[in-house]
This record gives sequence, C-alpha cells and structure tokens, in this order.
Amino acid sequence: MEKKEVLRKLPKVSELLEEDSIKVLQQQYGRQPVLSAVREGIEEIRRLLERSLEMGFEISANEDDLKKEALERAVELAYRYGSYSLKKVVNATGVVLHTNLGRAPLPEEALKNIVDVACGYSNLEFDLDDGKRGERYDHVRGLLCDITGAEDAMVVNNNAGAVLLVLSAIASGREVIISRGQLVEIGGSFRVPDVMAQSGATLVEVGTTNKTRIADYERAINDNTALLLKVHTSNFRLVGFWSEVKIEELKSLGVKYGIPVMEDLGSGVLIDLTKFGLPAEPTVQNSVKAGADIITFSGDKLLGGPQAGIILGKREYIEKIKRHPLTRALRIDKLTLSALEAVLKIYRNEDYEKIPVIRMLIKSREEMEKSAKKLAKELQKVILDKGTVEVLDDVSEVGGGSLPGVELPTKVVAIELQNLGPDDLAKGLRMARIPVIGRIKNDKFLLDVRTMSEEDLKIIPEMVGSVL
Ligand SMILES: *Cc1c(COP(=O)(O)O)cnc(C)c1O
Repeated sequence: MEKKEVLRKLPKVSELLEEDSIKVLQQQYGRQPVLSAVREGIEEIRRLLERSLEMGFEISANEDDLKKEALERAVELAYRYGSYSLKKVVNATGVVLHTNLGRAPLPEEALKNIVDVACGYSNLEFDLDDGKRGERYDHVRGLLCDITGAEDAMVVNNNAGAVLLVLSAIASGREVIISRGQLVEIGGSFRVPDVMAQSGATLVEVGTTNKTRIADYERAINDNTALLLKVHTSNFRLVGFWSEVKIEELKSLGVKYGIPVMEDLGSGVLIDLTKFGLPAEPTVQNSVKAGADIITFSGDKLLGGPQAGIILGKREYIEKIKRHPLTRALRIDKLTLSALEAVLKIYRNEDYEKIPVIRMLIKSREEMEKSAKKLAKELQKVILDKGTVEVLDDVSEVGGGSLPGVELPTKVVAIELQNLGPDDLAKGLRMARIPVIGRIKNDKFLLDVRTMSEEDLKIIPEMVGSVL
C-alpha cells in the first residue's frame, strides 16, 4: 500500500470525539484535555505507520483496526492529561507509613469533617459563646489534654516545625543539652544538630554514641542552660552495650536546677501497642506523666492523622511558644485542624480500629490470607495463561521512621509473567490510570495485602489488565 493511501485510513478527530468512551471522558475532565488526547492519539498512530513504511514493512491497515488503536491511545492519554498530578495510588508495598506515598491515610470521619469545614465558612478563630475572636487551637486543645493528661497544647504544620519553633522560642541564644546518642538524622534532611543551629540555640553534646548517664547531663549544666532535650531515635536502633537516660531522671535533674525538659517523641503513640501484639513504643501519656515540660510529635506517623506537629506542655511554655513569630509562619490550616479533631475524637472514644494506620498494623493473619486469596483469584482471571499468580508469606515494615527493624508477618500476591519482566510490570502499573505500587523480590512482582483497602482489591486486577 502507498504511504498516502495508508495515512488516509487514519480516523478523523471528529470521528473519535463521537465515540462513547471519549464522550464520557469529556464529561469527566472537560473538552480541552480530551481533545488534545484525541489529536495526540491519532498522531502517535500516524508516526508509527510512517516509521514502519520507512523501514519498508508491508502494511495492510484496515480502517477499523486503526480507529481502535487510536481510540485506545486517546483514552489512555485523556486519563493522563485530564487527571490530577497529585492523585490516589494503591499502596501495595506493605509499608504502612510510606513517606513517599503520603504517610498516614485518614479515617472516614476525618474526611467528612474536612468537607464540612472546607466547603463553607467555619468558626476557625471565632468563639461562638461570646462572639469574640477565638484561637484555632481551641478546637483540639481540650481533646489533646483529655487524652494525654497534658496541661496545655498547640499544633503547627509538622513535627520538624514544632521542634524548630520550641527551640527558637525557649532556647535561642542559650544552651541545649542532648545525648550524643540522640543526634540523629530523621530523613528528608531533618538533622537534630542542624535544626538546633537554625533555632539559634547552642548544642551541648554529652555522653557517647552508645552510653549516656545522668551525671553527663549534670556536669554540662551552667547558668546559660535553657533546656534538657531528649530525642526519640526513631528510624534507627542501638543494640548491645547501650543505655540512655529515662525521661523521669532527666525531669528530676531539671527540677533540681530549675531547667525545663523537652522530649521530641517523633511518632506520637497514644495507645499501648503491646496490647495489639506490637513492640512497645514510648507513649505520649507516659512522657506527660514523667513530667516532661514540653513534648512534640507528628500527627501523621503512628498517630495515623493528618500531617501536623503537636506540642504539649506546661501552660507557661506553650504561652511563650505561641508568642514567637515563627508560630504564625508554621500555622496549621483549617483542613488539617478539622481532620486532626476528628482523629482525636476517635482516640477519646477508644475506637482505635477506625484509624487506618492502626487497623493495618494489627490486621490478622486470617484477614490477610483471605484478601490475598481473593486478589490472586481475580488476578488469575485477567492474566490467564500469560503468567502465574501465587500467594506467599513475607514481611512488611511499619515505615515513616517508626518501629525500625520490626518485621510484621504478611501475605503477598506474587505475579510472574512470561513476556513482561517484573521491572516492566512495575513500570506499567506505575503509569496505570490508578497507579499501583508494589515491590520486587527474587525477580517476582509482589503485592502486599497489609496496606490494601477493600476497594484496592478490586482496582488492582483492573489495572493489571490494562497493562497486559
Ligand atoms: C519524624 C520525626 C520528626 C519530623 O517530623 P515530621 O512530622 O515529619 O516533620 C522529628 N523528630 C523525630 C524524632 C521524628 O521521628
């Protein structure tokens, strides 16, 4: 066939715009992105044909086939052009607090409250009792104090901000004493010594990497000491010949010299995880009970809420922190606040299983086995004889710098395809309409059911089908 003759068989833009699948997409995404997708879809097929002709291939293209090909390309491109850049993905990695995948998924109650608060006006900083100006912290202060026993509370953008703010407000121009074993990097370039420098406080390191004693702190105290700081080492763990000073001991020392004690807990755990068969983590309540004057932690690590930096403590310090100019720069927004209030209410009602992070961490073996079998069955239906699907035992991680080294036994669905390697399958699934992120182990593509929702179990086979 002549080149001209072949290209004349390509579908017209107006023709594809009449297709039902394209019309639906126009309703969903609007005309412009879908029109671009249709043009580009036809263009791609044209380029493919031209290249084949240049290479001397004999082409016997028929109009229906070309139209079908162009339509497929157009639909795929329309999804890409029309959908948001920041969007839902299926986390099949098994890492519960996956920093790159948005850390903690929120409970439904939080979403409902966000919608209510965000779609109209709210009493964000308005006291409904007396009609005067209120404080945005009022909406969570009572809950936080009730749950933890703290005297006062406030919230900022994230925990990194909370630590910087506290150090700036309480210790700028003065000295902060910390153990050498706690000078950690949390990731995302949050390094304790750097944050300290940024706040204008002077870092005074005591003890050694593996052992720090109370006497080490005491020797370093002088008239210029502003704070005794304890930092949770979060993403790494020392084993063997090792010890650190308990927050209770640090508090006694602080009382003796009239110096406040701060604890950066990292992950804010509000429940005893050992009740659910998980390793012990220091709880916020424990830190309050031990007398820490200021406590900071994240909203979106083990707490399972929105990104936020929660600051608890004695009223005099919270008042001082609120007056610092950085407070305004690190201010929490109304969407986050509405989500956080909903999550804290769940904690106060002790409905822990409503929190997705907690639910995923304590998922039972039976439930995971059931989900994995169901997923494997549906996957086999789309893969047919193009490959194999099997359910295997594996381990998942907590992630987010929480409970490092802890391996949670899990069930994974492993896919092996004849004509597509695991890297290509992983890439294909990343580019799918709803991206699915798994992991590769021993040349197999694995889907970990721990981090999947019921909805994800239906989405995954559809997306695997689209890749095939
Ligand atoms: C994670 C962590 C931070 C940073 O918290 P973000 O909420 O991610 O800003 C600070 N300190 C410790 C000990 C942490 O584990």
